[in-house]
Formats: sequence, structure tokens, C-alpha cells
Amino acid sequence: MANPSTKKPKGYDPIKLTKAMEKVVVDGNRRKYVRLARPLRFYGGTTSAVEVGCNLRCKFCFSDKPVFRPQSTGKFYTPQEVFNALSKSARKYGHKLISASASEGTLGRVHLFELLRLVDQSEFVYILETNGMTLGNDASFAQQLAAFKNLHVRVSIKGTSQQEYHQLTDALPESYELPFKALKNLIDSGVSCNACVMISFSDEAGIQAVEKKLFETHPGLLKSLEKEHITPFTKVAKRLSKNGLKPNSIAFKGNVVNL
Ligand code: SF4
Repeated sequence: MANPSTKKPKGYDPIKLTKAMEKVVVDGNRRKYVRLARPLRFYGGTTSAVEVGCNLRCKFCFSDKPVFRPQSTGKFYTPQEVFNALSKSARKYGHKLISASASEGTLGRVHLFELLRLVDQSEFVYILETNGMTLGNDASFAQQLAAFKNLHVRVSIKGTSQQEYHQLTDALPESYELPFKALKNLIDSGVSCNACVMISFSDEAGIQAVEKKLFETHPGLLKSLEKEHITPFTKVAKRLSKNGLKPNSIAFKGNVVNL
């Protein structure tokens, strides 16, 4: 009989991957970005930077090189450089919201906190996009974020169960619980936040189950819940097909299409 202590873990640990990725995409107070400011239509208009480096490897990820080739992608920028570019573009387009996307927003705390200090002295609100791994693993991180007033955290949950999450990311199934802990930590610390769930690969029972789990985490989370669907860019479609994954629904030209 196999000794349980010698059993190989079923997947990678996103917290270990966080540390490995930070070695690649963080240098002192600088973090890697591909682009510092582009206007996006989300939230009624936002200016967003394109970061490099993530602690998950979602098979449906649209980001591609910033996630899958962080070593050879992007350049390092200081928080001041990032803020200057974001604020200049946001003023040009009349945006109140600024953000960084296409990777994990919590890598490099020193960089993030310096950036949030600059945002706090401005008229802008920063949307911190995260998969919730780091904030779920460390309650003190959420407490530190409570010091910033111009901040909203958007926690993105990948799938509706541990098993589905593992199929979508190859990460340790139990790490599925971390974004729920992140939401709890943020709410307990008084940080503005909401949840979104990737449901392209889920059935109705799964969606109901994740809604129940969010309600149990905090009833208010259901009011602001966003349900996400994949956009089948060519690289995403190829990656999904290679991994034998078929979505039940996709986002296409602003509409949800059930397949
Ligand atoms: S967490 Fe987001 S950025 Fe990271 S791999 Fe998943 S979809 Fe891509």
C-alpha cells in the first residue's frame, strides 16, 4: 500500500508559483509590464496597464505571453512610471477607474503599495484584479490593503468546484478555496471588493453551488457577482482543444452564446 506521505501532489501550488514568478517579474519596487495604458470599455470605461506574471495557468487565459512566457515578455517600470501613464491616459479619455490586467495584480507588494499610495493622492480609483490566491493565503495582506481608500478589489474565481478548477488550471484542487478566503479577509478588513466566477465550463448545478458558497462567505457578494465567459481567441481555442476542454458558453461581440 502506498504511503500517503509520499503521494505526489495533484497539481502545482499557486503560492509556490507566486514566489517563483515574483523572482521573474519583480525587481525591487519595479514590476514588469507589456504596456502601461490602454483604454478599455469595462466598468463603463477604464484605463488599464498590461502586467506580466501570474500564479495560475488557466487553460482559457486570453493573456498568453504575459502569463506563459514572463521571462521574455515586457519591461520593468516603477510605480511612478505606471501611475503617470495611467493617469495621463485616464484624463485623456475621461476615465475615473484605472487598473492593470492580463496577469495577477498582487505580485510584488512593494510595487503595488507604492502605486496605491499614488492613486490615493489622485482623483482615480484603482481596480485590483486578482485570482485571490495570495489574499486568501495571507490575511495580513488584506489588512494592509485596508490602508488605501481609492481601491476596489475584484476577485476572480476559476470554475464552480475544486474538480472543475483543477481541470481548468492544473493547480492543487484545494487551492480553489483561497479566493473565497480572500473575499472573507477583504470584507473583514473593510476593503471594497466583489467576486466574479468563470462559468463557461459549468452546468446549472455548479453555478448554484458556487452561489451558495459565496452567500455563505458573505450574503452581499451575490448582489455584485459577475459571471464570466471565455472569449475564444485563436490561441485560447487551440489551448482548450489541446487540453480536451469544451466550453458550454462563450462571450461573442458583447453577447453570451450557449454552445
Ligand atoms: S488567473 Fe487570470 S491572468 Fe492568471 S492565468 Fe488565470 S486567467 Fe490568466
